[in-house]
Amino acid sequence: MLDGLMQEGKKSRLSRLQNKTNVLISACLYGINCRYDGGNSFNRWVLGYQNIVEFIPFCPEEMGGLPTPRPASNIIGGDGMDVIMGKARVINIEGRDVTENFKRGAYLALDLAREFNVSLVIVKDKSPSCGLSTPYCEHPSGYGIGVTAALFKLYRIEMIEVGKDHFGCIRW
Ligand code: SF4
Repeated sequence: MLDGLMQEGKKSRLSRLQNKTNVLISACLYGINCRYDGGNSFNRWVLGYQNIVEFIPFCPEEMGGLPTPRPASNIIGGDGMDVIMGKARVINIEGRDVTENFKRGAYLALDLAREFNVSLVIVKDKSPSCGLSTPYCEHPSGYGIGVTAALFKLYRIEMIEVGKDHFGCIRW
């Protein structure tokens, strides 16, 4: 569903993008039902900025080929940065290795950020993909970065982490 929405909106966006700052946003925060449980994490506060920025929703897990709904996943052996470096894996709660799906989605999200020359990405918290600080990993601190967020960090793309009901303060 998200893929269709992104393709459908692409042409009209390209014509409108001349005057607004482009901001990539985790699609679940935008109200799209792409969470692992089939729901969303709509954040009304973020959408208050729709008049001044052009939001471009993305979901790296769907972009990586995973269905919605889908089994939740955890990062085993490190965090998202370790996954990008080939030192950790992403395993869903049914025991399936979905590492390549997570990595493919991360690189496609990076392509999107470059295509639209975004100046900021608003990422969903507590996600093994989008989160700047997710508990769903094996990291000494108990929290680590998600796979897509790690790739954005490597490419020095600025991010702000936001939750479902609040505006977060973690910024990279
Ligand atoms: Fe998709 Fe990221 Fe939202 Fe998870 S947090 S549902 S990967 S957009």
